[in-house]
Amino acid sequence: MELDVATTALTSERARIAHDLEQLNAGTDNGRDSADRLGAGSDDAVATYEDELDEGVVDDLQANLDEVDAALARIAAGTYGVCVDCGEAIPEKRLTALPASARCIECQRKQEHR
Ligand SMILES: [Zn+2]
Repeated sequence: MELDVATTALTSERARIAHDLEQLNAGTDNGRDSADRLGAGSDDAVATYEDELDEGVVDDLQANLDEVDAALARIAAGTYGVCVDCGEAIPEKRLTALPASARCIECQRKQEHR
């Protein structure tokens, strides 16, 4: 993959994630407001559950953001498109689908099943 194409894809991906994180942070506050309006007590469990749900999504987005930042750092370092584990070139198709990929499919599979 051309590096400028990857940079563009990663930069827009980064902006999208940052935007989602902002929306979620705003949404969490709205959730608290509506729980307050409904009254304390029976809704506490629901509010807590929703907060935990939001936290899970925020963690995921934050992890994605870290991956995108790491990929941008690899572009800057000249190591983009090379698997961080085995050093093999990551297939073009995989980079097009997932520009933030740090590993080839084989190493990613090992990573996930560890
Ligand atoms: Zn690999």
